[in-house]
Amino acid sequence: MAVSSSLSATGVRWDLGDLEPDAPQARAEWDELLTRSQAYADQWRGTVGSGGPQALRELLDDLDDLSQELSRVHFYSTAREHTEATDPETNDLATLARDRAADLESLLLFVELEWLALDDAEAEALLAAAELEPYAHRLRVAREEKPYVLSEGEEQALNTRRPALSAWESLHGRELATLTVEFDSGEGPEPHTIDRLLSYVHDPDRELRLAALDVLYAALRGVGDVQAACYDAIVGDRLAVDRLRGITDPMWPTNQRNELEGDVVEAMLVAIEEHHPLGRRWFLRKAELLGLDRLQLADQYAPVGSDRRVEWPEAVEMVEESLRSFEPRLGEIFRTCLERGHIDAEPRIGKIGGAYCNSVSKNVLPYVLLNYTDQLRDVVTLAHEFGHAVHGTLSLERQTYRAYHTGLALAEVPSTFAQLLAVERLIDQEEDTATRAMLLADRAESAMASIFRQTMMARFEQRAYGVRGEGKALTSDRLAELWLEENTRYYADSLQLPDGYRLGWSYIPHFIHVRFYTYAYAFAHLVAFSLLAHYREDPERFVPAYLEFLGNGASRPPQDLLAPLGVDLRDAHSWAHAFAEFDRCVTEAELGVDELPAA
Ligand SMILES: [Zn+2]
Repeated sequence: MAVSSSLSATGVRWDLGDLEPDAPQARAEWDELLTRSQAYADQWRGTVGSGGPQALRELLDDLDDLSQELSRVHFYSTAREHTEATDPETNDLATLARDRAADLESLLLFVELEWLALDDAEAEALLAAAELEPYAHRLRVAREEKPYVLSEGEEQALNTRRPALSAWESLHGRELATLTVEFDSGEGPEPHTIDRLLSYVHDPDRELRLAALDVLYAALRGVGDVQAACYDAIVGDRLAVDRLRGITDPMWPTNQRNELEGDVVEAMLVAIEEHHPLGRRWFLRKAELLGLDRLQLADQYAPVGSDRRVEWPEAVEMVEESLRSFEPRLGEIFRTCLERGHIDAEPRIGKIGGAYCNSVSKNVLPYVLLNYTDQLRDVVTLAHEFGHAVHGTLSLERQTYRAYHTGLALAEVPSTFAQLLAVERLIDQEEDTATRAMLLADRAESAMASIFRQTMMARFEQRAYGVRGEGKALTSDRLAELWLEENTRYYADSLQLPDGYRLGWSYIPHFIHVRFYTYAYAFAHLVAFSLLAHYREDPERFVPAYLEFLGNGASRPPQDLLAPLGVDLRDAHSWAHAFAEFDRCVTEAELGVDELPAA
């Protein structure tokens, strides 16, 4: 396809054969799953907890198997939709998947509801039994929702809205995936996806950076109202359901799934905002370096020093070595995923932007999607996604399916840590002063993007939910206003925001898919910074403890998972360690710049 012909990851598409041979087989399996789930419900309904610990264990083991089959078939349908958005067979399958997934969820809902319906003494007695040990922590966490759960009929009725809600999400995604714009990056006009346009913010050519963002913002003007309508519908729905359940804090569902207290999260966000001057200090230094009075938004990620392209095979080698030198097993997991065709790296029309990893089940290795555009930052993304993949693989080896997947905030820790390791390795191995300066700057800027920008986005979301909660519509103009205000709180005078940036909120998928996902990146980056410091202090003690952490999955609370690695979430000083590391990154970036010849 023309859009990607000049990029080195052309042809690196995943092979979904480990999931399903084809769409007809997937459709048949959706039907089969429905039958199986019906049989499961017939067998177990009304018995959750009443048959003693052994029966509950069997019931949960069966559900674990069923959930993994569901995960596999569901991911096949999703993966097709994410890479072939305009294919009719794919769209039919995605529609079937949404309907079936909702049906299955309704059928299986009784397990959670009956578990919640038990009184505390009954539940505690079961949880104390050795048979239930592999599920105990997840079952405990589930009971935190007890005060907010409605009757089974009401829950089922809420579930039947799923396909309609997913349709809003799909529309939002499809608007972005199919948005292509003619843009001339110097090689003649070519159709560009949003991701490709955004990749130019890392280009050394200032005119190109400015032009790419201008073109992007002009194109977004055509979809701004639709994107706002999608967001308004989704936020409105979430708030309405919260009201029914009696949930007053729109962040509560996310915090609960992250197993983080609201005040721990708020204390972190405040601590981050107190460090805004660290970011602004860098922007001023960068403006000086680029010979500008003030940076424009398009200059935020402009490479300093020398940029270089990294072709796909080099990226693969770099990430594999980085994982392997930390611990050989992690390198092996990477190699196996690659060889089995579990990576889709080629950017193309009809493929969604961004990147993710899906750790499908205990029987299927993780799949990774990214859009590799030959930029150094794409190598970091590859390392990031494989941080998820090694976490998923090792925890699925040891835990039940139910207990492998942590909340979002903790899930981003291994990925961020893998990314920091890869970057550190790149910096250490780089002999060229100018390229080193670029890498140092990029490391500092990635931290700013995760810590400062994601916090800014979480504040934007808080305000959007606040406004919608007051009964006001989230129109494109209103979202633009909130967006620009929150951005200004971060950047202040250190960087100029162009007018078109008022649509900057419209292409952030996290706002649509998972509310307050954003702060997870800030949390994870801070924790990963602390982990890196502990690793440097004593690698021999740290590596086995870290593997243990990966293998533990979500089988205990974040506090207990992280404590053996030297991170105490209840201690405010833990963040001080992380900010010291953050400061070190910015300072080293400044030193890297100092070594460059004057502009
Ligand atoms: Zn991630």
